[in-house]
Amino acid sequence: MEVSALKLPIHKHRYRCNDSGCYNNANPGGWFHKECGESPSEINHPSHPEHPLTFNAKTGYKRCHLCGLLIRTHVLYHCSKCNFSICIDCKRNPPPLTVQHTKTHRHTLSLLARRVSFTCNVCGMQGDRSPYSCIQCSFLVHRDCIDLPRVININRHDHRISLTDHIGRRGNLKCGVCHQSVNQYCGGYTCSTCPDFVVHSSCPTKHRVWDGVELQGIPEEEEVIPPFKVVGDNLIKHFSHENHILRLESDGTSTRDEKTRCEACVSPVYSDPVYSCEQCGFILHETCANLPRKKRLPFRNIEFKLYAPDMDSYEAFECYACKTMFSGFRYKAYRISIDVRCGTFSELESYDFHDHPAVYYNDKKASPRCRACHQRGEMSQHMLSCDDCDFALDFRCFNLPRVVKHKDDEPPLSLCYGEDPNGNYWCDICEGETNPKDWFYTCSHSGVTLHVQCVLGDFSFLMPRRMIKYRRYCKFEVVPNDHCSRPFCACCQSRCIGPFFLTISNPEIIYICSEGCLKKRSLSHL
Ligand SMILES: [Zn+2]
Ligand SMILES: [Zn+2]
Ligand SMILES: [Zn+2]
Ligand SMILES: [Zn+2]
Ligand SMILES: [Zn+2]
Ligand SMILES: [Zn+2]
Ligand SMILES: [Zn+2]
Ligand SMILES: [Zn+2]
Repeated sequence: MEVSALKLPIHKHRYRCNDSGCYNNANPGGWFHKECGESPSEINHPSHPEHPLTFNAKTGYKRCHLCGLLIRTHVLYHCSKCNFSICIDCKRNPPPLTVQHTKTHRHTLSLLARRVSFTCNVCGMQGDRSPYSCIQCSFLVHRDCIDLPRVININRHDHRISLTDHIGRRGNLKCGVCHQSVNQYCGGYTCSTCPDFVVHSSCPTKHRVWDGVELQGIPEEEEVIPPFKVVGDNLIKHFSHENHILRLESDGTSTRDEKTRCEACVSPVYSDPVYSCEQCGFILHETCANLPRKKRLPFRNIEFKLYAPDMDSYEAFECYACKTMFSGFRYKAYRISIDVRCGTFSELESYDFHDHPAVYYNDKKASPRCRACHQRGEMSQHMLSCDDCDFALDFRCFNLPRVVKHKDDEPPLSLCYGEDPNGNYWCDICEGETNPKDWFYTCSHSGVTLHVQCVLGDFSFLMPRRMIKYRRYCKFEVVPNDHCSRPFCACCQSRCIGPFFLTISNPEIIYICSEGCLKKRSLSHL
């Protein structure tokens, strides 16, 4: 097409464009977007019937008066008498002048196309431009709040929530998604089971925590399946161990060593209340036995189901949130597995490592550094953060055991949440320097400062002394590294220093010291 034949708007196009839809202008100045090339310099737009709108030639930034989009002036139509501007998208698809949506409001709503500050009657948030209005009721609503879903599931709550036009007085008036305050006189989502759970009406879509399914008219699934049946006094049959009966031991008299671990969370049970099997060594924390069979988790907008490993084909997996190798119970949805430690994280709970409640954080563009390990990376995809200060923690560090029994004959180590440096700190295990600002393990008797990684290694959350399958192609046993002589790793050829190593029959027995070495070896032996 001849460019000179087109009536181009007065337009300082400063950007070269590689789109196939671009016009090459023979004049110096280069290329034009197809959109710009074909746009008339003056239009009549239904949103502004009083005056024609013209292309604005000035540079700089403006917001569209209709949708609020931030625009460069070269794609802007403008009325200089009223200082009214619209973006190219709203020029192309003008918002309807009136809307009939009886679920939102019983009367017809009309577009008020101008800058005006208002409080939206549906979401209760401030607006600053072009609401839809019903003059006789003084009803004003954001364009985006007109067609909100009525009944939904969000990944922050286990029950359905439904839209109401009036939140009303409640014990808690903080949004369960953004944690900002909710206005009791406005609309929002509420839960019929939990009177204190409220959500701003705009937050499910804005924060992408909704799975996109409108549930109005869809009956709710019947009852929740409990994780166990009570079969007698303190006796239960748990879904993960159906052949035997488990007995509750809550008196705390029997103290077990750190090798006795809960099948669900793979942590030592010590003297915690547990359900134990009298016929085999199967044991569950009382709290772990109560883990719900289904759960909503912030990691994805789908429902997760609790899986217990099959004892005949016990398997290790990498947790999607903390990237740790784990062999206990998991919450699973499609191919995503979350270990039960990450799966029981609860937002707004107070934890001992920080003064303010922790919230879930996921922003790939701005991943903060973990306060505990000062790393940024794969794990910072999912983090805990704080609404009140710049604290952030990855899930691997969140899960670190507070107390670890490192050697049988020594007192337990406790997790220290960093210190102000005061001299040099050395790790007795690897003989390298310890950064005192990182979290480390210490012992009140000896004052050692041990690297977290040196104390735990990569296999501390795999069930010791059990054959475990890993990624279909390999099977290993997790062995405590407590013999006098430490074996050499078949992959890196150095001595295994972690608290556990793996043995693989190949058919001759070989040893593996770390997850990295396991992956390298597995790949070369496929
Ligand atoms: Zn009305
Ligand atoms: Zn909110
Ligand atoms: Zn609820
Ligand atoms: Zn447990
Ligand atoms: Zn995890
Ligand atoms: Zn960390
Ligand atoms: Zn904080
Ligand atoms: Zn070390």
